[in-house]
Order: sequence, then C-alpha cells, then structure tokens
Amino acid sequence: MAAAQAANLVEKAVGHSGNATVTTDVSNYYGEYGQETGEKIKATIWAGKNQVEVVEMPKPRVVDEGDVLVKVTGSTICGSDLHLYHGVIPQLEKGDVLGHEFCGIVETVGPGAKKVKVGDRVVASFPIACGECRNCKKQLTSQCERTNENTVTNAMYGKRTSGIFGYSHFTGGFAGGQAEYVRVPYGDVNLLKLPDDVPDEKALYLSDVLATSYHCVVDTGVTEGDVVAVWGAGPIGQMVSSFSFSQGASRVILIDGGDSAWRLDFVQSKIPKLETLDFTKLPKGESITSQLKKMVPGGPDVALDCTAGEYAKGWAHYFEMLLGMETDTSEMLNEMITSVRPFGRVGVTGVYAGYTNHFNIGALMQTGVRLIGNGQAPVQKYWHYLLDQIRKGEINPLDMVSHRVRLEDMDKLYELFSNREGGIQKVFVQTKHSAHPSPGSPALVDL
Ligand SMILES: [Zn+2]
Ligand SMILES: [Zn+2]
Repeated sequence: MAAAQAANLVEKAVGHSGNATVTTDVSNYYGEYGQETGEKIKATIWAGKNQVEVVEMPKPRVVDEGDVLVKVTGSTICGSDLHLYHGVIPQLEKGDVLGHEFCGIVETVGPGAKKVKVGDRVVASFPIACGECRNCKKQLTSQCERTNENTVTNAMYGKRTSGIFGYSHFTGGFAGGQAEYVRVPYGDVNLLKLPDDVPDEKALYLSDVLATSYHCVVDTGVTEGDVVAVWGAGPIGQMVSSFSFSQGASRVILIDGGDSAWRLDFVQSKIPKLETLDFTKLPKGESITSQLKKMVPGGPDVALDCTAGEYAKGWAHYFEMLLGMETDTSEMLNEMITSVRPFGRVGVTGVYAGYTNHFNIGALMQTGVRLIGNGQAPVQKYWHYLLDQIRKGEINPLDMVSHRVRLEDMDKLYELFSNREGGIQKVFVQTKHSAHPSPGSPALVDL
C-alpha cells in the first residue's frame, strides 16, 4: 500500500507521456465526463482499502470520436478486482469505477465508430486497444501503445500494457463495468457483437476469463500428452484445466488449499478426470514439489500459475510484503520451477505487480526451466474462436458460474469473494437492464 501511494505521487509529479490517442483518466463520470441531462446511473467505486460502495453518478457521455456508450446487462467480479480492493495495485484512487468484464447493449455511438451499431448486443474486452498501432496489428491488443500513457508503468516495466477498464490509473484510469453504463473507447475494436443464441450468462466471460485461460494454455505451449499442474482453483484455474485437456494434456493436476480448498471439489465436479492436490493436507515433511514428483515420476511437463503474487503462504514473505521489501511472493513460482521436469515450462498468468525476493534463479538456470510470463491476455485475438466454441457447445462458461447477484449488492460480494466464503466461484452480476436468467444459469440470490 505504501508503494502504491508513492507511485501515485511520482506520477503526479512527472505527469503523463502524451502518447495516448484517447482521453485517459476518465475513471468516473462526475464533472466534465458526465451527461448534463441530470440522469443518474449506479456504479461501484473503490472507497479505500477493503471498501467498495455502489453510488449514483451522472451517466457517461461520448468523450472521443470512437467512444461507444454501453448499457450494461451483465457484469461480474474477478480475482484481479481483489488486488484493487486490497489496495496492492498502484494508483487506484477513491471514487474510481471498478470492473473490467461486462456485456450489454449499445446505446450511443460516437461519430468515429463505424462497425458497432445502436442496439447491438455486445461484450467488451478488458484491454482497451486502438486496433492500429504496431502491437495491435500483431493482435497483441493487451499491449496497445496508444491507450495508456502512464509513466510509472513505463518506469517499472520498461514498456506498458494497454489501458484496462476499471483497473486504476496505472492502466490508463478508465471507468469500469460494475456499473449501469460504461464509456467504451474505440468501441469498434473493444466490443464484440453477440449472436442471439448466446445469452449474456455465457457471453460475459469472453471479456476476460475465457480468453485469459485459453491464452495461458496456448502461450505456455500445452501440447498432446503433456502432464499439466495448475496452481489455483479459481475460475481461471478451472478453465485452464479444461483448456489443457482440450489441447491434448494426458493428465491435469489442480492445486489449492486453505480457505480455497473447497474449489478443488467444485472444479472436479465439472471435470471428473481432473486430479487434485490440497496443499493443506500434505503429509508431514512433504511439499507440493515432493508430492507432485510422487504423482508424476520426473515431474509435470508444464506448470501454470493461476494464483497471484499477493498471497504469501509463509510468514517470511508475508512480512517482507508488509514491510514493503517486495511486492509479490516467489513461493508459488519456486514450487513450479522445482516441480516441473528438466526443461519443463512454467506459465505465469496470475497477477504479479512488481518485485519478489528469494526467487530460485539457480533451479531455473541449472535445470533449463522455461519461465513464460503470459502477459495480460490479448482478448481480441481469441474471442471469435471462443465465441464459436461456446456456440458449438465445446465450452460451457456456466460451469464456472455459481451465483447471480444484484449490482446493488456489490459491496457485500467483494467481502464474501475476498474471504473465499459462500462457495462463490464466478458470479453473474445483473443490473436493472438485465434479462431474466437464461436456462441453466443460477437464480438470483440476496446477499
Ligand atoms: Zn478479470
Ligand atoms: Zn493499439
């Protein structure tokens, strides 16, 4: 948190780099970015560490030519939102609208938007891309060069990610989709039109979780016959397990424990051939690495990280993070590096923010482990294929969806989700604009 606040001060002193071709830092719609009609919308804002509130604010307006205003009919919460909630992502400000996964109906299009039409049902991609820069042309939309001009990101990473909805000023400061309306910059690039036969409860997850999971598996290179171990049994770990099998993995072992151990049973109920490892139930003297070597002689071919660097397992990293000596734990990375067979692959999809201590560089070098940062997923590269897979019934996103709640209950949802309570895997958040639940999707619950 101290580091996060310091980053904000640096940014304010140094200023932006001026390379963006959209108006950035429109992180809520108070003031000049709201409509003057007096019409109000509900939106979820960050109100401080471990505090979110659903508040009323003006309805957004078109700011740039390519902007599209979307009336939200489906939203959700993501494990990544918890890093914001916990205050570990730099440069989040009180009053910023959260949420990077949403679908809805196009209400207004700016004069520069040519493909998207008023009335279209659409899903948004969490990365905000221009569609025309060098990286966008290579389909690396999550690394668009024109939608984030934050200088702190550049200083820390030597480059920066694209803008991201609802994800702090570190990624451009764009108001997010846990709201009744959203301003979508470059609407032609960042919205996918949905066919009538795919309901919101399935389409919503094209925003992030489906594309991120699929990217993790193909980017790390899971191929025919691989034994894959997956760290973290949340929605990403669940879909990564599923996609690993569809890419030809012979075995998939899903690892979790502690307050999240129930998720192992949840995922196994959807993917019966999955094997699981609860690290809190390891026999005395055993580690994840030693247990995996027993299950898979020589070790798995591939390890996929679907956890996050903020979740320390032992006291050493807990205190080092608390004291600002590192931003992320290396415990899971070290487990993966020592678990995989020589020249095995490790893919990192779970969120890491900055620096880590006690990283086992020796094991990485000596045994030829390929460590692959998967990066934020270039959603637009995959979403046509994934939508097609949903239509064919090859993927059923509803396998992840455990609850349906109201936008008005977002504050309670954050708390429950953060505490891993209530058996919440993935949620569908409805707004007053949502349709009735589609067949097979969970019924509305009061939190
Ligand atoms: Zn997400
Ligand atoms: Zn671009």
